[in-house]
Amino acid sequence: MRKIIHIDMDAFFASVEQRDHPQLKGKPIVVGGRGGRGVVAAASYEARQYGVRSAMPSRLARQKCPHLIFVPHRFDVYKSVSQEIRSIFYEYTDLVEPLSLDEAYLDVTTNKPNHKSAIYIAQQIRKRIYAQTQLTASAGVSINKFLAKVASDINKPDGLKVILPEEVDDFMKTLPIEKFFGVGKVTAQRLKAQNIHTGKDLQKYNLIELVELFGKLGKYLHEVIHGNDNRMVKSNRLRKSFSIERTFDTNLETKESILAKIQELCLKLHRSMQDKGVKGKTVNLKFRYADFTTYTRSKSFMDFMDDLTTLQDTACQLFINAWDDESSLRLIGIGYSKLNTEIPESQLQFPF
Ligand SMILES: [Mg+2]
Repeated sequence: MRKIIHIDMDAFFASVEQRDHPQLKGKPIVVGGRGGRGVVAAASYEARQYGVRSAMPSRLARQKCPHLIFVPHRFDVYKSVSQEIRSIFYEYTDLVEPLSLDEAYLDVTTNKPNHKSAIYIAQQIRKRIYAQTQLTASAGVSINKFLAKVASDINKPDGLKVILPEEVDDFMKTLPIEKFFGVGKVTAQRLKAQNIHTGKDLQKYNLIELVELFGKLGKYLHEVIHGNDNRMVKSNRLRKSFSIERTFDTNLETKESILAKIQELCLKLHRSMQDKGVKGKTVNLKFRYADFTTYTRSKSFMDFMDDLTTLQDTACQLFINAWDDESSLRLIGIGYSKLNTEIPESQLQFPF
């Protein structure tokens, strides 16, 4: 039986701004641009009372709450707070999987302080976060990632929710389908069209039926509904490389289209590394010709690097140097290795 905690900071960016600007405390604020194309990056709980939500166009947010205060973002500050929070997590376990700057899964089945209770650890972490950052976090504690994530949302803000092993079945039965992580608005509509509104409704379908109806998602739903979410907490710390790759529906023929695709993949990789606070010393490029021959090239830097332009220039140059100037490509991959999050090999060995 595993013990998984999901920690989620409450209205993270907005709370950091209210902390650092006391005149904003208790007021409806959003982080984001107020201009025509601005989008809400985060909304304070006061703003949420007016129906303002993150990812909402600023124009709409202003309609919902005319006296809404817009605050420009300070990503560097959010990132450094995020690092502080992560170092608290690492005092309990190395099995930490950040989902974004303000959210992470922790596997505390075995843990550094050797506590038996995951509930106790979750409370300790919430207290430590508050003491160190003056910000509140909510936590969910259960037997797998799915349940821990759903749980952390239940008593938000500044709350804790535990779903004990013996409560899992009842909990799943009454869980509304919109609360299933991974089920967006569109999928929820499709499920409801099948008369599936809660976990109990889902349990009436077997695996084959769910896969027929919903493909891959059906398989996932079947697993989680029976409490069988075996997804591991994937620690960046134990990870040696970070990469993305794409196989194309139609092979890329021209140099321009290939370089454009490399730039685009670099941007995606860059964003995901930034979210997770990961940098690397080595940039890796992989590409596969239409006849399946595959090449990898890499370039190393002296220091940990996470600069987008450097990444794009390096990847494009590696490609130009290695390409035969005529063959089309079916796959491109870009990645970093020699990561700043890696624990040196020597520290991974257990003492006798
Ligand atoms: Mg959050």
